[in-house]
Amino acid sequence: MAALAACRTACDAPVAVLRAVADDMQSAMRVGLAADGQQLRMLPTFVTRLPSGAERGSWYALDLGGTNFRVLRAQLGEAAGEVTRVESCEVAIPAPLLRGRCAELFAFIAQRVVAFTGPEADGALGFTFSFACAQEGLDSGKLLVWTKGFALLDGPGLDVVHLLRTALYDAGSRMRVAVLANDTVGTLAAAHYADPAARVAVILGTGTNAAYLERCSRVAKWPLASSSDSVVINIEWGALAAPSLPRLAADQTVDEQSVNRGEQTFEKMIAGMYLGKIAALTLLQMDAESGELFTASQREALLGGGLSTPLLSQLDNAADSAQERSALASALGSAPSDAALAAAKEVCHLVTRRAARLAAAAIYAVLTHSDAASTIGGTPPIVAVDGGLFEHHAAFAATLREAVAELGANAVLRLTVDGSGIGAALLAAAAQVA
Ligand code: ADP
Ligand code: MG
Repeated sequence: MAALAACRTACDAPVAVLRAVADDMQSAMRVGLAADGQQLRMLPTFVTRLPSGAERGSWYALDLGGTNFRVLRAQLGEAAGEVTRVESCEVAIPAPLLRGRCAELFAFIAQRVVAFTGPEADGALGFTFSFACAQEGLDSGKLLVWTKGFALLDGPGLDVVHLLRTALYDAGSRMRVAVLANDTVGTLAAAHYADPAARVAVILGTGTNAAYLERCSRVAKWPLASSSDSVVINIEWGALAAPSLPRLAADQTVDEQSVNRGEQTFEKMIAGMYLGKIAALTLLQMDAESGELFTASQREALLGGGLSTPLLSQLDNAADSAQERSALASALGSAPSDAALAAAKEVCHLVTRRAARLAAAAIYAVLTHSDAASTIGGTPPIVAVDGGLFEHHAAFAATLREAVAELGANAVLRLTVDGSGIGAALLAAAAQVA
């Protein structure tokens, strides 16, 4: 079958391909550090000092990521680098708000913040906002572009901190927005608070992106580069679009059906929002060739998004064939044939493999670009990773770790759960101390 053969070839992603991807990523990083508006935005975040472990007190954070948003309060411990208690609430964002105006989305968020903190709370809040922003300071930033299925009618060009402050004020809250942080930056802050060997943070959830600590002397485009030694750079690596990326026919269709066509090429091959769709489209291609994998209603289910990334993950991580069969039956709406089960298992495995290996190439690129690859006092650097794809898809995480080692990077990948939100609270605390 041509579709399966093509999938096997592209998803194998041997080490030579990974090196080519890493080279392309590094070239794009250098170009992005030199000038604005490049493929990789390489955004200076104004975070010039990561939390040291000495921060104390109780701080709030708001994490607007992709699928859900969370409000949390972090109590920083007596011991250095310790978060003693986190209280949080998680709210799904109603789908219509993702297609409306910013003012409505932020009003909804502000109401939930007040419901969590109470109207009397007047602490400082870190705002994790996981979309590309051009920052003009630690507590301001204009949205550049929506990604991950957000299709609001406005946003680009607006200062998201101003939007949040206005909405909080209107909702009767006295909370103060102290810091704007990308989720990658929050994750780096949280990991660095616990262990200063953390130099890179990666998100593998609904979307994918990374941030790292860069020497200011290498950030030619940043007017404030001379005022400090280092600054955290938000790479926005999901935008990479290089000829070295091993593409599938399904990638093209995923892009055409997305709300941001032609953008986020790398993200659409790797992130949780897309993996199930890539596998479903590849299986439909195989079905069209052979005509006998699925029934008409099963085809409908696949076309309608029945194969979610969590189901892809269940299929790829199943302990036995009964579990595999039941995962695929959930995706298809009825029991699969043996041929369909064999095909789905292989395709989900291959799509996972490509995503994990490409993510490894990108991590390798960041480690070798920056000083981060060097060991600190004999301990290898830590790459902090947050996101549902890495956390819940065991085969993905294992393949990623293997490929990082295969590329020769000496680094420890550490799951940093909820790092994005806790990190924003820590950055709010660090800003207060500074
Ligand atoms: P966000 O990226 O929106 O901040 P998360 O980090 O919680 O949120 O990631 C959620 C994403 O993780 C989901 O969109 C989904 O793609 C992916 N995911 C969740 N559970 C699983 C799973 N069991 N296996 C694989 N991917 C999963
Ligand atoms: Mg998140």
